[in-house]
Amino acid sequence: MPFDYAPAPESRSIVDIKASYGLFIGGEFTDATGGTPFKTISPSSEEVLAEVSEAGPSDVDRAVKAARQAFNGVWSRVGPAERGKYLYRIARIVQERARELAVLESLDNGKPIRESRDVDVPTAAAHFFYYAGWADKLDYAGLGPAPRPLGVAGQIIPWNFPLLMLAWKIAPALATGNTVVLKPAETTPLTALLFAEICQQADLPPGVVNIITGAGDTGQTLVEHPDVDKIAFTGSTDVGKSIQRTIAGTRKRLTLELGGKAANVVFDDAPIDQAVEGIVNGIFFNQGHVCCAGSRLLVQESVAEAVLDRLKRRLSTLRLGDPLDKNTDIGAINSPVQLAKIHELSDAGDAEGAQRWQPQCQLPERGYWYPPTLFTGVSQSHRIAREEIFGPVLSVLTFRTPDEAVAKANNSPYGLSAGVWTEKGSRILWMAQQLRAGVVWANTFNRFDPASPFGGYKESGFGREGGRHGLEAYLAQGNETMGPAKVTAEEPRDG
Ligand code: NAP
Ligand code: MG
Repeated sequence: MPFDYAPAPESRSIVDIKASYGLFIGGEFTDATGGTPFKTISPSSEEVLAEVSEAGPSDVDRAVKAARQAFNGVWSRVGPAERGKYLYRIARIVQERARELAVLESLDNGKPIRESRDVDVPTAAAHFFYYAGWADKLDYAGLGPAPRPLGVAGQIIPWNFPLLMLAWKIAPALATGNTVVLKPAETTPLTALLFAEICQQADLPPGVVNIITGAGDTGQTLVEHPDVDKIAFTGSTDVGKSIQRTIAGTRKRLTLELGGKAANVVFDDAPIDQAVEGIVNGIFFNQGHVCCAGSRLLVQESVAEAVLDRLKRRLSTLRLGDPLDKNTDIGAINSPVQLAKIHELSDAGDAEGAQRWQPQCQLPERGYWYPPTLFTGVSQSHRIAREEIFGPVLSVLTFRTPDEAVAKANNSPYGLSAGVWTEKGSRILWMAQQLRAGVVWANTFNRFDPASPFGGYKESGFGREGGRHGLEAYLAQGNETMGPAKVTAEEPRDG
């Protein structure tokens, strides 16, 4: 039986949530001129946290103009070392306001405070520190002599790691001398709006960072805007494909970080207790709302029973509940829409003949919740083995030989990440060469470091974020021209 833990809630008094928020354009919060305001809620309690503006087409246009003006003006006069200083300053303020950011993130997103406090916010600060260091060393990045910024970057991010995805987008863009217009997800705008305050506090020149809130329509308007030089998108594969279609034939640059269905491969010589912790971290971290989640467990047949026994025992000790409680392992599902998707796919697992197992778990009455779940007897044709569930649901498959493990792991339209658990270094290297995945973790999972590039193959997208590679997406190459886009999305493509 798990221990009874006394509640240890983090105080929310540190955050000062306003009743309503405008758009952050040209260094100031301004009222939206188009669009209908919407509410953001706390998914663990369904409490309304704030009303947020919806940026309409004229607001998107204002934001892009502000970014263009800053790019042509003040930001181009700020030298590389000075740009670095702004980024260091932002990084330090993120650290200073870490508790505030963590509490706000957990309220708006539903993720456990343990994760926002120990992973999201420190890793976001680390990204700003890392790219601050690059700002005055771009000539030595191996990307050609005197690399130039692209101009205005339109950036669109999802709700699963709101502040961290913002950092992945904004830090490299600013370090390379671009200006940005960023749209956070509709259900999690609050840490991006607090970040706007941090930009003011850091005295960042007006227009260098613009934050516009809204839903998919706002994102689409930003993608279509003719004066955006680059789109950086993180989100679902479907929306990524539609963005790629929209900007085809224009000179806009594009990077896409999309979905995943990662295999976490456990060999018979793996240290089983460590592997079990890695499996849990791989799929139950952040309620499984993780693009690189280890959502397919491939376990060697000879140790499958032992691994599953220990895994079930471990899952019985996970605590689900209040995201602000420091004991909580599993928080709330971000939205009713996402919860419905998890139900739909899990029900398909039952219907297709897989066996569902869930620990005893009391779900709170209010809010959106799903218990940690595993399915055994899963075959490769099952929907739960092919489609991204994006929730705390693990599909377990077995294999007998390393070749079979590789074939099954690669049998996916996605290719974002993978995990390998084995004692043999040679097998790790062999697997890393065979697996079509942008990131392969060995004897660990879901580890992030700003110095390490991250990105996908196949339908998981293209382009890399993080590390030296992350600079490339924001720098003009060779004789690529800069300045306002000359071809609009509406114009026909050549030929
Ligand atoms: P999503 O529906 O694609 O949304 C992502 C962002 O795009 C949101 O800000 C969304 O706005 C906006 N958007 C929606 N429709 C748009 C359109 N037609 N044009 C432009 N923007 C549009 O994805 P999600 O459900 O929020 O996020 C989950 C997905 O993200 C998963 O598939 C996950 O694997 C992926 N993800 C990938 C990575 C990675 O690095 N590869 C990291 C995290 C998540 P609203 O939400 O406000 O409607
Ligand atoms: Mg919310």
